[in-house]
Amino acid sequence: MTVPRGRSPVNAPPASLAPMSDAEPQARHLLTRVVAAGRPAREPDAPLNAPIVPVSALHAGGPFEYAREGAPTTAAFEEALGEVEGGIAIAFSSGMAAANAVFDIWPVGVKVVAPSAAYTGVAVRLRELDERGAIDLCIVDAHDTEGVLTALDGAHVLWLESPTNPMLDVAELDVVIPEARSKGVFTVVDNTFATPILQRPLEWGVDVVLHSVTKSISGHSDLLMGALVTRNAELAEKLRVRRVLLGAAPSAFDCYLALRGLRTLGLRVERAQSNAIAITQAISTHPAITKVRYPGFGTMAAIEVVGGADAAQRVCESVQVWTHATSLGGVESLLERRRRWPLESPRVPDSLIRLSFGIEHESDLRIDLQQALTRAHS
Ligand SMILES: *Cc1c(COP(=O)(O)O)cnc(C)c1O
Repeated sequence: MTVPRGRSPVNAPPASLAPMSDAEPQARHLLTRVVAAGRPAREPDAPLNAPIVPVSALHAGGPFEYAREGAPTTAAFEEALGEVEGGIAIAFSSGMAAANAVFDIWPVGVKVVAPSAAYTGVAVRLRELDERGAIDLCIVDAHDTEGVLTALDGAHVLWLESPTNPMLDVAELDVVIPEARSKGVFTVVDNTFATPILQRPLEWGVDVVLHSVTKSISGHSDLLMGALVTRNAELAEKLRVRRVLLGAAPSAFDCYLALRGLRTLGLRVERAQSNAIAITQAISTHPAITKVRYPGFGTMAAIEVVGGADAAQRVCESVQVWTHATSLGGVESLLERRRRWPLESPRVPDSLIRLSFGIEHESDLRIDLQQALTRAHS
């Protein structure tokens, strides 16, 4: 089993994740704050939960006015996500909409350092921007710390995912982020895979954290949403204005569902991660497997199998407890061969199957995956 080089946030949790006895709300544990945040004031007969407010226009004079600017249900979700990620959150209609809002604030011609195998949509957009001369793209391997540090020379932006989708490369954020900051490089970390339960990049000084809220944050594969989180109020306002001008606001219903899902993020990540740890270990010696990619923490892994794309496809079609589908971070375990997508990076091996661990019972998931591997191998 290959454990990529990098520092596991699980082994070295940020200080603010440690249990604290202080009763001050800001000092309460993250697992307490994720349940408490984004609720109406505690007044008689006020609802416990933020209501779904379907609205485009609001009475003049308030902070929202029009739903692209902001809206009550959106604000409740943003308050809660900002609380758990540790900054000011701005919600978008998808993870890609959030990414495009960030691309939209860069001056023409900036040098952008980004990983070779990042989320497909982001990687494709960055290549498009490079081809039309809007940015000067410099590709690195996220886990190659020396390579990232070298690429920072003359760079304006460092875009990282850690762990990366779908290669599970882990960047040494605690090394590369301070170095990028000392050179005045604007830093963005896509924290979709790790979630704020396991990793909070703003604490290392990252300028913007990106989430595909579609994934673990909402956690039930029933909506598309994205978010950006930053500690810089001026930057937060700039990014919110991008939402207004790009027309990338989420719906009230989706914000309600995402906030409801966020309440259980801690429990879901804990269970899915324990499934991931146990099952990647158990299958690592299976004769159908050539490589297991699991960074030692988190709810995502990838395997490579004997027999190339066809065998990998057979594994995906032979599961009964797992579901053969794209996406990730939901309560149900999903798997897919990533290279079935024509735009996926050629750096991703043809036989690589991405595994998104859900919250089912470990032995059912393990036995199902083992039988699918055995069937595809024979
Ligand atoms: C899915 C994903 C995105 C894109 O988010 P959407 O909500 O699908 O637009 C971005 N980054 C990562 C790491 C993802 O997994």
